[in-house]
Amino acid sequence: MNSTCPAAPPDLLLQPLWESILRRERLLQSPLLPASFGFLAHLALSVPFLLVDVLGRRWPQMNCYRIAGGDPQVPVGDTLQLWGRCLLRIACCHLTVIAPVTALLQCVRSPSLPPEAPRCARALAEVALCLLLFDSVYFAWHVVIHRVPWLYQRVHSTHHQNRDTFALAAQDSSPWELLSLQTIALTCAALLDCHPLSEMAFHMINIWMSVEDHCGHDLPWATHRLLPFHLLGGSPFHQTHHHHFRYNYAPYFTHWDRLCGTYRADTAEKP
Ligand SMILES: [Zn+2]
Ligand SMILES: [Zn+2]
Repeated sequence: MNSTCPAAPPDLLLQPLWESILRRERLLQSPLLPASFGFLAHLALSVPFLLVDVLGRRWPQMNCYRIAGGDPQVPVGDTLQLWGRCLLRIACCHLTVIAPVTALLQCVRSPSLPPEAPRCARALAEVALCLLLFDSVYFAWHVVIHRVPWLYQRVHSTHHQNRDTFALAAQDSSPWELLSLQTIALTCAALLDCHPLSEMAFHMINIWMSVEDHCGHDLPWATHRLLPFHLLGGSPFHQTHHHHFRYNYAPYFTHWDRLCGTYRADTAEKP
């Protein structure tokens, strides 16, 4: 009797995708991948919201879901300058700190690339667990950097210079904060021993949700509306944090703030 289990059939949805990614193995193994992926994905995902912000000046009906910014009294040139300075700070952070450190981490990790894609259910479970773990660690770290004045000044105050947020502000943080967030995200995926495809999906969703948190609009199709009972906070939840520092420390889910008494419902003043 043959005691070995027959190999599971490949996942029909993810296997072709994974094989097309594997054909770019050199790119996947590049030490510069984490920093360049983080920067470019953030920029690309921010562009639609920035366009809405600009077009909303000409067609005010585009501002119907706006919860922050968009003051028509502010000249568009000032807004573009604000975004340009923000983008420059983020690029400098990535070039001087994030790229060298994550390149070193990538060389140490040397991720292996299995030939098989994960099953869809496994990939979904890994992404969900990564998000929950990242959310928990970020919540604890965020409380600490708010409660310790020395850390707040050196690590977190840069992020709070934007009281009314806009999409690019998601990564407008000090190099040390950006580095800590990248390290937490990479560590969560490593601790859960995720398949590289699940890890990529997690990083992409992580960047998308942080851009949504800061986009300044509460859209009817936003990701935080996917779950019931306000389990995900979304942009109203995070905008409230930018207005009232002592509430809503978690990046995405609301359970830790509810449990710790730091939850505050959407009270950010609408423009
Ligand atoms: Zn923020
Ligand atoms: Zn904060």
